[in-house]
Amino acid sequence: QGDAIPTIRFPNGAEVPALGQGTWNMGEKSSEAKREIESLRTGLDLGMTLIDTAEMYADGGAEKIVGEAIRGRRDEVFLVSKVYPWNASRQGTIDACEASLSRLGTERIDLYLLHWRGDHPLSESVEAFEALKASGKIGAWGVSNFDKSDMEELFDVPDGHNVAANQILYNLSRRGVEYDLLPFCQERHIPVMAYSPIEQGRILHHPELVRISKAYQATPAQVALAFLLERDGVIVIPKTSSAARATENRDAVSLDITDEDWGALDTVFPPPARKKPLEML
Ligand code: NDP
Repeated sequence: QGDAIPTIRFPNGAEVPALGQGTWNMGEKSSEAKREIESLRTGLDLGMTLIDTAEMYADGGAEKIVGEAIRGRRDEVFLVSKVYPWNASRQGTIDACEASLSRLGTERIDLYLLHWRGDHPLSESVEAFEALKASGKIGAWGVSNFDKSDMEELFDVPDGHNVAANQILYNLSRRGVEYDLLPFCQERHIPVMAYSPIEQGRILHHPELVRISKAYQATPAQVALAFLLERDGVIVIPKTSSAARATENRDAVSLDITDEDWGALDTVFPPPARKKPLEML
């Protein structure tokens, strides 16, 4: 299986692999279901046991695919799902979580995220999250698409400091978060989940990325994932519906890229020199 996948520890002590699996676009077409389930199961076999989904994806369809993929092996998995901002009221959050649990075919979501900021007061969403935690329906809660100022506001609401993760757009071509948001989370030991880690495929033909990947007999996707796996406290969640690509992505942990080559990538994908508002997809 190659090198072990590095692990990340959540504030509640849960230890998870730094390389997991995304599910956006799964569950859209029933003709694809078999491939999607097989890809997720292959990923689990290879140790990518964190699975990220959301009530949004295929309108609950992705959660059903995940439910199928983890059937009979729930205990291996660290399950992440998300509530729509417009559902994130005191009662709406509870109802949305219960609907997700039923689609996932499980009694518990390990990490439940507010998908992005909406109009319900953060204090209400947090109160609901804490109630879900107390009843055992979720293990921990977090947020997604929160910039530094959003995180600061969150820390000002009761129990807001219990936030266990922030899932954000972060990849070679989206490095703005390195300016202040990533350090903010790292200093507080709040894991960052890097979504769209290969920029949904759009960066894979970049000539410098291609050149460097060839030098390691690796693929551009593997180098893009390795870039994120290098960072402290970052969990990387590429999505693929192909078992072969799941294996390819898993092997990114074995790449050992020199400082010189990281420097070459910095030249074409420069780190931020000033604050940029958080981007989202
Ligand atoms: P990714 O950067 O993970 O890219 C996924 C795309 O790349 C798919 O089209 C996939 O195709 C393709 N792909 C995967 N592996 C490879 C490979 N080795 N070589 C070439 N192509 C590859 O984008 P996502 O936007 O899906 O992000 C990952 C996950 O993050 C999502 O699935 C979702 O769980 C989460 N997310 C969260 C958001 C949020 O707001 N919180 C927003 C966006 C994503 P194929 O399946 O055919 O292999």
